[in-house]
Amino acid sequence: MRRIVLCGFRGTGKTEIGKVIADQLHLTFIDTDNLIESRTGRSIPAIFHEEGEERFRAVERQVIATLPEKDAVVSSGGGAVVDPTNVEYLRRDSVLVLLVADIDTIEQRLAKKPRPPLTNLPLHEEIAEMMERRRQYYHAAADLCIDTSETTVDAAGKKIISILQNGTTTVQQRETGLAFFRTGRIPAPELRTLEAILTAPTRDPLTRLMGVAGYPCAHSKSPALFNNLFTRYSLNYHYTWFEDPEIDEIMRVARSLDARGLSVTIPFKADVMPFLDEVDEHAARQIGAVNTVVFACGSAIGYNTDWLGVRKPLVSLKGAKAVLLGAGGAAAGAAYALTDLDMKVTILNRTQQNAKVLAERFGCGWGPWEDFDSIRPDLVVNATPLGMHPDDHSPLSDDQLNRDMTVFDLVYTPPETPLIEQARRIGCRTITGTEMFIEQAREQFYLFFGIDVPAESAREMLL
Ligand code: NAP
Repeated sequence: MRRIVLCGFRGTGKTEIGKVIADQLHLTFIDTDNLIESRTGRSIPAIFHEEGEERFRAVERQVIATLPEKDAVVSSGGGAVVDPTNVEYLRRDSVLVLLVADIDTIEQRLAKKPRPPLTNLPLHEEIAEMMERRRQYYHAAADLCIDTSETTVDAAGKKIISILQNGTTTVQQRETGLAFFRTGRIPAPELRTLEAILTAPTRDPLTRLMGVAGYPCAHSKSPALFNNLFTRYSLNYHYTWFEDPEIDEIMRVARSLDARGLSVTIPFKADVMPFLDEVDEHAARQIGAVNTVVFACGSAIGYNTDWLGVRKPLVSLKGAKAVLLGAGGAAAGAAYALTDLDMKVTILNRTQQNAKVLAERFGCGWGPWEDFDSIRPDLVVNATPLGMHPDDHSPLSDDQLNRDMTVFDLVYTPPETPLIEQARRIGCRTITGTEMFIEQAREQFYLFFGIDVPAESAREMLL
């Protein structure tokens, strides 16, 4: 039996429900708050009052890092999963159950058992504010979500045990899901893995699926990267290909299999949006494209991490003069990233009307390809497929580049594109599409699992 970890806001029932589960399954019950008190010899209100929240979080981190790794039910503190290092320890070989409840219920429960305040707000507002602030962290950390508002402690405990033993999907849902995968172009060994996960008598009911949604998407590097990360972090997940010409079919199958999430690729980044319950406000909505769908607590939430994959390698170039080649989906994310870094951006594109539309959305200049020479940019970002088979040539000539430029090619197949090879030869600083892929995938992993993967580890796993 995997370790069972309960997380969630204070007053959602972690301690009481945790004791019921431990009792029923004959496991040890551990409350991290109690461990903190016994380790420091002081009550939690006293630690908060005398040494502050920072000290409390430091002890909490030590306690979580040294928890037993099996045969236990752990109740973690309400704010523990905000820290990605804690999540990494709590998730290892464990199933994380998020307990939620409505604000009124939590307020009533807390009124009976006072805890140190987390803000200067009145209790009701504090609960609303803190729950909203922590929502994304809870979603990322949890494998399962149980609402305890209108249930007894015993009933909630029984429900969780039933899910731990049987999973969250029916035989029919799994067979329909398998039929979907069989109609795609999934390689035979992968189909056998899916059969073992979905329908084999020996299946682990808690193994969750997720994958890349696209058409076609067989070339995607995401399955290899994510499955390696699952092994590294001991996560009970499998990442596969959700390949179909219709995004509504992919979303239907993903929901009915209770998938954890999807990495969305061509041609669905815009088309997926009507099928979501929420869209990340500042990125996906402004860029108009979603590349990450997280299924959490019954909702499908869309995010865009592509723009972060462009932004991260360029933070040292804040305010630079940039030329963005291309005006398609990747260029939209890039334009958002570059303008977020206060760059002066000119979009050059084969079809000028497309450059104009994108430029007007993000307050950039625009023009035909021929304008390149008069701009003399510090940074060039290629967001066209030029350099990728069959257009395997650079979008620029040697005399258009100089050694003071930074050249970022979003194309990542091949890893060393003609533009990158040319820019290296001339002495420019170069950033490859693989860097963007790694950064956007690290951000995705964080949204899916709450774990911060070091860039170096992601790079090693991809090569
Ligand atoms: P897209 O929406 O189809 O847009 C393609 C853009 O390139 C359009 O502006 C198009 O111009 C232009 N273009 C296409 N063929 C061209 C040609 N032969 N000559 C000049 N311009 C041409 O594609 P996308 O989704 O933006 O993807 C663009 C590239 O980014 C792809 O190669 C993709 O692999 C790469 N990408 C990389 C990552 C990563 O993680 N590294 C992530 C996403 C995308 P028109 O407007 O005239 O059609």
